[in-house]
Amino acid sequence: MRLVLLGPPNSGKGTQAAQLAEHLGIPAISTGDMLREAVAEGSELGRRVDSIMQSGRLVDDETMAAVVRERLAKVDAAKGFLLDGYPRTLPQVETLEGLLADADRELDAAVQIVVPKEILIERALARGRKDDSAEVMEERLKVYGELTAPLVGYYGGRSLLRTVDGDRSIDQVFASILEAIGR
Ligand code: AMP
Repeated sequence: MRLVLLGPPNSGKGTQAAQLAEHLGIPAISTGDMLREAVAEGSELGRRVDSIMQSGRLVDDETMAAVVRERLAKVDAAKGFLLDGYPRTLPQVETLEGLLADADRELDAAVQIVVPKEILIERALARGRKDDSAEVMEERLKVYGELTAPLVGYYGGRSLLRTVDGDRSIDQVFASILEAIGR
């Protein structure tokens, strides 16, 4: 299975991605985690993306294309994958399409987790992650609305979109996702 998980910050996307990947026996590929690791290691990539990540803005599409191309080329991704946090812009959608086409593969579904904005803000404040100050949270939500939300229309148009209500318990959301992807 090749899946894309869409959802705003604090939608529970990361939690669901980890559970789903384990259930389906495929790697969960979180570009956010990969970048945070690069920052922690102090690699060239990490030094380049650190301040962008802290601001809530997006890393440029070209850099992300290199990160994802390299990750999807690893052996474990041959049996399928679940992308968490990629693609996030329409150019990234095109990059992914290109990588899949080169490997003669297709996406099976794009699962969108929907959560009301008030709940997202409530969750962010409760969590208090280092990069989740109210201001940065606002920026992350704005970026999501402007650059990532259009992907919903794109995947909808290709009949790949599955929408799930994320304002419920972790187990309920998980069950809905499995149902939505026919598992
Ligand atoms: P996340 O944990 O997915 O919210 O990602 C944390 C941060 O990493 C984002 O706010 C971006 O700055 C950066 N990032 C992660 N994935 C991407 C992506 N696909 N495109 C651009 N920036 C990304």
